[in-house]
Amino acid sequence: MTVDARVRTIAIVGGGTAGWMAAAILARRLRKDFVRIDVIESAEIGTVGVGEATIPPLRLFNQALGLDENDMLRATQGTFKLGIEFRDWSRLGHTYFHPFGDVVSAARRLRASLPQDWLRIRSHGDHTPFEVYSLNTQVARAGCFVRPRDLDEEALNRRAAGSASLWSDFSYAFHFDAALYAEYLRKYAQARGVSRIERKVVNVELRPEDGFIRALRLDDGAQVEADLFIDCSGFRGLLIEQALKTGYEEWTHWLPCDRAVAVPSENAGPLTPFTRSTARSAGWQWRIPLQHRVGNGYVYCSRHISDDEAAATVLSGLDGTPRAEPRFLRFTTGRRRQFWNRNCIALGLASGFMEPLESTSIHLIQKGLTHLLNLFPDRHCAPVLVREYNRVATEEYERIRDFIILHYKATARDDAPLWRECREMSVPDTLAYKLRQFRNSGRVVRYGSELFATPNWLAVMLGQEIWPQHYDTLADQRPIDETRANLEHIRATIRDAAESAPRHEDYIARHCRA
Ligand SMILES: Cc1cc2nc3c(=O)[nH]c(=O)nc-3n(C[C@H](O)[C@H](O)[C@H](O)COP(=O)(O)OP(=O)(O)OC[C@H]3O[C@@H](n4cnc5c(N)ncnc54)[C@H](O)[C@@H]3O)c2cc1C
Repeated sequence: MTVDARVRTIAIVGGGTAGWMAAAILARRLRKDFVRIDVIESAEIGTVGVGEATIPPLRLFNQALGLDENDMLRATQGTFKLGIEFRDWSRLGHTYFHPFGDVVSAARRLRASLPQDWLRIRSHGDHTPFEVYSLNTQVARAGCFVRPRDLDEEALNRRAAGSASLWSDFSYAFHFDAALYAEYLRKYAQARGVSRIERKVVNVELRPEDGFIRALRLDDGAQVEADLFIDCSGFRGLLIEQALKTGYEEWTHWLPCDRAVAVPSENAGPLTPFTRSTARSAGWQWRIPLQHRVGNGYVYCSRHISDDEAAATVLSGLDGTPRAEPRFLRFTTGRRRQFWNRNCIALGLASGFMEPLESTSIHLIQKGLTHLLNLFPDRHCAPVLVREYNRVATEEYERIRDFIILHYKATARDDAPLWRECREMSVPDTLAYKLRQFRNSGRVVRYGSELFATPNWLAVMLGQEIWPQHYDTLADQRPIDETRANLEHIRATIRDAAESAPRHEDYIARHCRA
């Protein structure tokens, strides 16, 4: 590589969560005398202003930046998240929990094979729910939280053997105000040399010879040139779509919701350490507790409900008084045909959209940045790098898409047209194959390095009441009474371990109150 070909300037268009996550990690990883980074954002356009629930890998991103987790939580009104409670998804009145943490490994350490041992005792009439084998779920249901590192050692030692090892598979993420998170990262990035240009981009100039982006024209007539452009401009995809005409692959035939209405409300009652998702007649409603308010919203399909009815549904189900007028958002589920096109990489809402049912959007920004740093180009953006980035990003998007479709497809609800349509729809082959395998013998097939692992698929497949026809016959090797006793021991160990966690509010008050 010649010195001349090095990327010397990066322009990031957009100052939402995506733009400032990009600026922060690039500023951390690239020396400022090596690369100049500009973020262009327009106060007039603003940000999407929603997005409050995250998943555990975000902790790695924060660690890569060297952030102090408690400081970040104080600055963003954050709380802890142990998983998602799903209400009325499989059928009205039914509830299940999709926890973080690895129930399969935790049980393996205690010499049990999940779900096979559980399926076996179930076939012998024991209907204890699967979720009693998850420490995350039990701590969440008790309204408690603790970071394992803060567990009182003495308390741990007093408890049953095995309790300590259970905590190593315990996992957590955060609920926070994503706008405050972006602001927090903005300060971080600016302190490391990133320059912020508060202007509107009015034109994107392409190089005639190869169609690469050459420069951005701003509304004051100034021009920003760069070697590499990161499009974080939100749904509009200012660079990737409006300028480069990359194209969009729609998934609305599988994920028909196309609108959301968001309403924050006052906190009333204890801070639950989990997100709640309640299926409604035309979509689903989220509830996300932050320190200063509760985030609520209804993701719905406009073919089945009007905006006014959707807003009335959310307003009628709030725990406390609303703190703002309902805000409506429109979206089309799907992805850009290429996430990286020429010298432009799209991140965040500019790259595609999947509804926030499993809180995956901010994670996809993080993954995009990881891949970009792994495949960091020179100014020519070699097609081989671009191709690899698009391959892994597509794989990630599609596997998450399958996981979200599973929630809609595996329902017994027939009380509303949306659910009847979803029950009947055909699903992507990759998901259909997984479902066949699981229905046969409770086995979870995984593709490559997909985000959701066996415990996640198990929680949602069993939660949505998909019952395997058989269990693995190897589970029959042990006498049934031994398997029963072993599982009972695990349940008791988990109950014991869960009791050592303090209440979620008390933990926040002690460590990270805003
Ligand atoms: C209803 C809903 C709920 C969601 N919930 C979650 C959740 O719980 N968890 C999760 O992980 N994700 C969630 N998301 C997704 C999450 O909100 C986004 O991934 C995240 O906020 C990133 O947004 P962004 O930065 O890509 O875009 P935006 O926030 O829209 O930012 C776009 C930026 O581009 C700038 N811009 C645009 N055009 C121009 C221009 N011409 N000139 C200059 N600047 C310009 C804007 O000013 C703004 O700064 C949700 C999304 C929706 C719609």
